[in-house]
Amino acid sequence: MIVENRNRILIVDDERDISAFIVEVAVQCGYDTFATDDAEEFRVRVRSWQPSHIVLDLSMPAVDGIELLRFLATENCKAQVVIASGFDSKVIDSARQLAEERGLSIGGTLKKPIRVEDLKTLLEKIKSDDDWLDEGSILHAIEKGELSLAFQPKITLSGNSGDALRRELAGFEALVRWEHPKYGMVPPMHFIPFVEAVGLMDQLTDAIFRMALAQIQRWNAAGNLYSISINVSAENLYDINFVDVLDRRCKEAGVSPSQIVIELTETAAMRDVTQAMDILTRMRIKGFKLSMDDFGTGYSSLVQLQRLPFSELKIDQAFVKQCHLSEQSRVIVKTMIDMAHNLSLVAVAEGVETEETMRILEDLKCDIAQGYHIGRPMPAGQVEGWLNESAMLRP
Ligand code: C2E
Ligand code: CA
Ligand code: CA
Repeated sequence: MIVENRNRILIVDDERDISAFIVEVAVQCGYDTFATDDAEEFRVRVRSWQPSHIVLDLSMPAVDGIELLRFLATENCKAQVVIASGFDSKVIDSARQLAEERGLSIGGTLKKPIRVEDLKTLLEKIKSDDDWLDEGSILHAIEKGELSLAFQPKITLSGNSGDALRRELAGFEALVRWEHPKYGMVPPMHFIPFVEAVGLMDQLTDAIFRMALAQIQRWNAAGNLYSISINVSAENLYDINFVDVLDRRCKEAGVSPSQIVIELTETAAMRDVTQAMDILTRMRIKGFKLSMDDFGTGYSSLVQLQRLPFSELKIDQAFVKQCHLSEQSRVIVKTMIDMAHNLSLVAVAEGVETEETMRILEDLKCDIAQGYHIGRPMPAGQVEGWLNESAMLRP
C-alpha cells in the first residue's frame, strides 16, 4: 500500500496569488498541497482529504474565517491550523484564542503581507517529522510486543442510592500504549489515525483484544471479575465478521463477553448506520456491552441514538471538565445524564479531575465516573496497589 504524505496542507484564501505563493513554499518544504478560494470546497476537502495542516485566511468576501474555524471545531479537526490575516495582531490573537478554546490546534499565525522566510520557518516547524511511523514500524510494534495496555479505573457514584459514601469499582478502561525502543512513548492519538489511514486497524484491534483477554484471564483466575472496556475504531466496523472474531477470541480465552464493554464513538456508529446496526446488534446478542464514547462531540440524532443498541453513554471530557466552571455546562451535562437514563443507558462521565466535579456529578445522578482524580491509566501490575490504597473506594 502506498502511504500518503503525512504533511498535507489545505490553503483557503480568496487572493489567488497569495495561495499560489503559499503552495510554492509548502511544496519546497515537503508538503502535499491543495488551495481553494471557496468555502464549500474547503469543507468538502477537510472531510475527504483530511489535511494535517490548514492555512486559513481570516477575511474572505463570501465567508469569514471565524465561521470556518467553527466548522473545523465541530468536525473535531485535528489539523494544525495557521491563521493568516491582514488585520492587526489583536484581531489575529483573538481568533487564535477563540480557536484554541474550541479545541483546535493552532500551529501559528501569519500577518499579511507574508514574508517568505516567516512562512518557510513556520511550515518547517509545524511539519510532522515522524517519518519512521509507517506500515512497517506499526506491524513491527504489533508483532514484537512493543504495545501494552494501561488500565484506568471507573467507579460508581452514589447519587442514585442516596448513600453518599458508597463508591465502588465499576471496572477499567483498557488504553493502548506504544513504547517505541527509539522514540519512546508514542501517544495513541498520534498513531491511531495513522493506523486507520494505512488500513491496519483490524490487526491493531485484534492485538489489543488479545492482550486485554489475557489480562482478564489472569484477573479472573485470581477471583477478580472486573468489567473491562475496550475501544474500537470506526474502521473495525467495515469488517462484517468483526463480531465473530471478537466472539472467537473470547471463547479461546474462556472469558464471557458479558465482562467486556466495547467503546465506540458516536461518529463511528453514524458513518454507516445500517452496517453499524447489524454489527452492534450482533455484539449485544453475543453478550458484549456497548458504550457510546465521546458523546456530545458528534451529530447523532435522538432517533438514531434510540435505535442503536448501546448500553452506556460516555459524556465527553470537554463537558465534564467545564461543569464546575459554568452553570451552562452543568445544564448540558445534566441533560445528557437525563437523556441517558430516559433511554435506559448507563451514564458515564470521563475526564473527572476534581472532587468538586465528582460531587456535581453525584448531584446530577450520574452513574459512573472516570478520570485522573479517581485514577490515571496504569499498568495491570499497579491495579491491585491502587485498589488497596485508593481513598476513593473507602467510606
Ligand atoms: P478515549 O477513549 O476518550 O480515552 C480517554 C482518554 O482520556 C485517555 O487518553 C485517558 O488517558 C484520558 N483521560 C482519562 N481521564 C482523564 C482526565 O481526568 N483528564 C484528562 N486530561 N485526560 C483523561 P489516551 O490513553 O491518551 O487515549 C486517547 C485516545 O486514543 C482515546 O480516547 C481513544 O480514542 C484512543 N485509544 C486509546 N487506546 C485505544 C485502543 O486501545 N484502541 C483504540 N481504537 N483507540 C484507543
Ligand atoms: Ca474510550
Ligand atoms: Ca472518550
